Amino acid sequence: MEKQEEAQEMGQSIAKLVNREIIPWLKIRAHNELIPDSIISQLKSMGLFGVNIPDEYGGSGLGSQSIARIVRELSRGSIAFASLIFSHCKVNSYLCNGGTDEQKCQWLPKLASGEVIAAHALTESTGKAVANFTTTIWEDGDRLVLDGCKSFVTNAATAGLYAVVAKREGQEGSLCSIALIKNDTVGLTIGKEIERIGLQEVSLAPIVLSDCYVAKKDILGGWDKDAASLLACVRPAARLNYVARAAGIAVRAFEEANTFVHNKYSGQRLLIDIPMVRLRLAEMRAKVSCIDMILRDLSRQLEEGKVEMIDASAAKVYCTKTAGEVVRSAVELHGGSGYASNLPIGKLYRDVEALSIVGTPNDIILSDISDILLGLEASGSEITVGIALCKGGHYEY
Ligand SMILES: Cc1cc2nc3c(=O)[nH]c(=O)nc-3n(C[C@H](O)[C@H](O)[C@H](O)COP(=O)(O)OP(=O)(O)OC[C@H]3O[C@@H](n4cnc5c(N)ncnc54)[C@H](O)[C@@H]3O)c2cc1C
Repeated sequence: MEKQEEAQEMGQSIAKLVNREIIPWLKIRAHNELIPDSIISQLKSMGLFGVNIPDEYGGSGLGSQSIARIVRELSRGSIAFASLIFSHCKVNSYLCNGGTDEQKCQWLPKLASGEVIAAHALTESTGKAVANFTTTIWEDGDRLVLDGCKSFVTNAATAGLYAVVAKREGQEGSLCSIALIKNDTVGLTIGKEIERIGLQEVSLAPIVLSDCYVAKKDILGGWDKDAASLLACVRPAARLNYVARAAGIAVRAFEEANTFVHNKYSGQRLLIDIPMVRLRLAEMRAKVSCIDMILRDLSRQLEEGKVEMIDASAAKVYCTKTAGEVVRSAVELHGGSGYASNLPIGKLYRDVEALSIVGTPNDIILSDISDILLGLEASGSEITVGIALCKGGHYEY
């Protein structure tokens, strides 16, 4: 089957799954309940865990435009689902771009089928700059030892494989390695689920590494490789992923508001018969269209190898902020019911906040952009490194 057809079919299946199972399940979901296995196994059989893995390893090797459509469809159901799949896919990307042949053969087929779910562990309480990391890795004879703590790890409780970014002890500069650690490794402990305001259906917890021994062959790309450029090369695609999540949650908020105002009376009038309500709905629809246009343009640029890191970064900030505005308008159009937490719109309101924080916070992106405008860009900033990589053509999903 042609890739485009395959992606289209996948998109349609996701839309069906979202309407038939995901949205109804979210309505009856018990507090603290994670996505049930019955839905996860459908995501697996649709091939979602391997969308960015080449065919030869059992994935579907889709391009950025197809992946963007898939993320948007999933996020229309809930951005927590996109979070589950694309935290996993980030590890796929690391392996595809920087893994040794042995690591690719060992992990990619299992990751593509979803037999093993992956988690990406970067953030620490000291931030995401490697220089400040407390998680360190050093040589002990033939093996390597890790110690430290990663504060927020999506899929923490459900993963079989953790890609842990650690600072290399005793080396000059901010060299780092990505250790591929199995869930049953001695010295790896999964912490308690983090209480949070949104995205509650996907696991989020800290992980602790204490005298955690790994073999040198389990360092992504090999022990002699610095992983910094690998971390940077997946960033443009990560920015696009957040734009797609913004598009999905915004269109869903619009749909919820549209249905509500067509069915709710205020006095003798349906809400939709009030000019101000129609105007607000039109404004929301316009914003959804703009996010979608940016998504299409950016995903095409990424696929053609023409994306500028500054544009991808600006798009992440603009679209996530605009999605927040659409969701807030939808809450207002629901009136008092919008403030009640049991309606879908309440969940969208809690979830959308994550988009401006997770990944790289919007403020940090804006701060990088402002440095660039002032000619003060730091050589290690995400955008500067990204621009250099984009110019070299190294950006992959
Ligand atoms: C639901 C969820 C899922 C997550 N999943 C993962 C995961 O799977 N793996 C992982 O590694 N991490 C994950 N994270 C962590 C997430 O990526 C970080 O929380 C995020 O990058 C912000 O880092 P921080 O919390 O250390 O905030 P800080 O770096 O402490 O920043 C806090 C705020 O200060 C401001 N700020 C900080 N620095 C600057 C600057 N230089 N310029 C301007 N403003 C600044 C910004 O407003 C920023 O939002 C997750 C977080 C959440 C909430």
